Amino acid sequence: MIYLDNNASTKLDAEVAAAMAEAADLFGNPSSIHAEGRMARRRIEEARDEVARLIGASSEEIFFTSGGTESNALALFGAAGQTQAPGRLVRTAAEHPSVVEAMDRLAAREGFESVVVAPRPSGVLDPDELLAAIAADTRLVSVMAANNEYGALYPVADLAPQAHARGALFHTDAVQAAGRIPVDIHAWQVDLASFSAHKMHGPKGVGALYVRRGLPLQAHTPGGGQEKKLRAGTENTAGIVGFGCAARLARERLNGEAASIAARRDRLERGLCERIPGVRLVGAGASRLPNTSAVLFEGVRGETLIIRLDLEGIAVSTGSACSSGTLLPSPAIRSLGLSREQAGSVVRFSLSRSTTDSELTRVLEALPGIVARARQVASDGAIEAVEELARR
Ligand code: PLP
Repeated sequence: MIYLDNNASTKLDAEVAAAMAEAADLFGNPSSIHAEGRMARRRIEEARDEVARLIGASSEEIFFTSGGTESNALALFGAAGQTQAPGRLVRTAAEHPSVVEAMDRLAAREGFESVVVAPRPSGVLDPDELLAAIAADTRLVSVMAANNEYGALYPVADLAPQAHARGALFHTDAVQAAGRIPVDIHAWQVDLASFSAHKMHGPKGVGALYVRRGLPLQAHTPGGGQEKKLRAGTENTAGIVGFGCAARLARERLNGEAASIAARRDRLERGLCERIPGVRLVGAGASRLPNTSAVLFEGVRGETLIIRLDLEGIAVSTGSACSSGTLLPSPAIRSLGLSREQAGSVVRFSLSRSTTDSELTRVLEALPGIVARARQVASDGAIEAVEELARR
């Protein structure tokens, strides 16, 4: 299998799997004071140190969660729960559904106003447009560090201090950024930031929320005193140990890997544009993650290409999200000014450190024929539909 869907999830690193297998024996409750419990606690705290090191935070600012989705929910509901009165919430149109839906819920049920700022069609987010949306009653601004669908990087380090100057808190969803680009959370000056282990070759179901030291946040789960009462529930020891190991590996490998992954991604994009007519890169006018490419193949549905590629042993994904059993073009992609049809023709290729040149050569050999056949079928279908109409 040629796996080019690393923004959806990454393969568990062998070293992470070994660390987790060892940690599976740490069966004591990390809150227990006996030796079994203390052993588990020690490993959790070591993992916290590693996650903190990856992002340049202090360990006490890291709170473990069940993943990026929960971290986003804890950040948004937790910050909203601390405000004296509802006010405005600002986000980009590129945010992940876990941010979008949390804000929508705060607007529908708690009386907050949700304001959305779309990036330019090039993928670039205009800082002035974002800042202009921040009003005197803005409580929180949420801007992702890196977009999951087309990889654009947003200037959170420029925006956060300016949001603060206008009296708003600043949250960033850094799920796709961590382990792929350097994250220096104190230099970024954000108040809250979300992370997920399975996007950096760690396990699924574990993540973290960075909470700036001293920032009050309302807990959303009543219960025990874990994670300083912010996130009650017995810790997932093996998962957290795996996250710590993945964070260490990401930190050690980041600088050496980013350039070679970007070079492979660029070669893939060049090859696709040269070999296939009617191909366009989406959001590529922005600075981007090194591993991500969103490609629009005119006149063919993304799902058709995915199925045909899957039959060739190549895994990619679309710019569509499954909602209520139907495939809807992604709002984040549509907000770049693409029509419904165009957004439905976008395919995302997301590389990892293990993607090889020969794998990309295979993709470049397979895709022109696949696209041509899919377009032929689409055009035959259109002709048949016209003939059918003419017969009626
Ligand atoms: N935020 C972004 C940008 C993501 O890409 C994802 C996952 O795709 C999430 C949040 C959710 O993370 P998790 O799968 O750990 O809940």
